[in-house]
Amino acid sequence: MRFKPDNRPPGRAADSLHLVFQGGQLVRDLRAADPLLPARHDWPVVQEQFLGYWEGRPCFAVEIDPQLDLDPMHWQRGSLYQLLGADEDLFALAGRAAQLLAWERDHQYCGRCGSPMQADLGERAMRCEPCRHLVYPRISPCIITLITRGDELLLARNASFPGEMYSTLAGFIEAGESAEACLHREVAEEVGVSVCNLRYFGSQSWPFPSQLMLGFFAEYAGGEIVCDQEEIADARWFHHSALPQVPPPSSIAGRLIRDYVEHRRKL
Ligand SMILES: [Zn+2]
Repeated sequence: MRFKPDNRPPGRAADSLHLVFQGGQLVRDLRAADPLLPARHDWPVVQEQFLGYWEGRPCFAVEIDPQLDLDPMHWQRGSLYQLLGADEDLFALAGRAAQLLAWERDHQYCGRCGSPMQADLGERAMRCEPCRHLVYPRISPCIITLITRGDELLLARNASFPGEMYSTLAGFIEAGESAEACLHREVAEEVGVSVCNLRYFGSQSWPFPSQLMLGFFAEYAGGEIVCDQEEIADARWFHHSALPQVPPPSSIAGRLIRDYVEHRRKL
């Protein structure tokens, strides 16, 4: 890893790097290959979060004044999706930056007593002095699962997907629920089948806006496919040699599919 997360900001350093956001969008220098900027711009900063060290250099996320006019010949604003697939470490860093800025922006006032909150100096938290309420950055765990039946993969087309892309199933873990219980519930709700032999695959931070995707393989155990009318436009079994358009391996959905297909081809 070229990035080492850290919560304690160092003193001002001449070699600091900035990830710059305006209106929640990442600002990129059109002349540079990556979005890390030397911290030498005199843009008015409205928020700042220390992220950690990128290749040994202190790195900060900054939100600049939304009124500032950036020269469109030199600067471009865009979504984090643009970084997906190019550089995994950089995508994780930019995701951390966007999430910490959004968390600070959304916790200016205490949810318990309504007083203004301050950044805690000792740890990464927003603190309410009057009532001592502390709020830490929040991530939302989700399960994502590839259901398999021998040579076949169960893939679904979400009603909100662009085009004809089919993918794995996913859903948010509810309060009080384990990842495994969530997986069984989501699969039953979305496609109506039951599964067994869950196997953990890996995880991915997914900053849209703050999910942690926990990837699992699951084997088909029984039932006919019945799609959830609101979420799923279509779901069906595909042989690994005749897959539809699927997500790229820059997402954990794409990696689950690629891993299983490679495994079956070797048999
Ligand atoms: Zn309070």
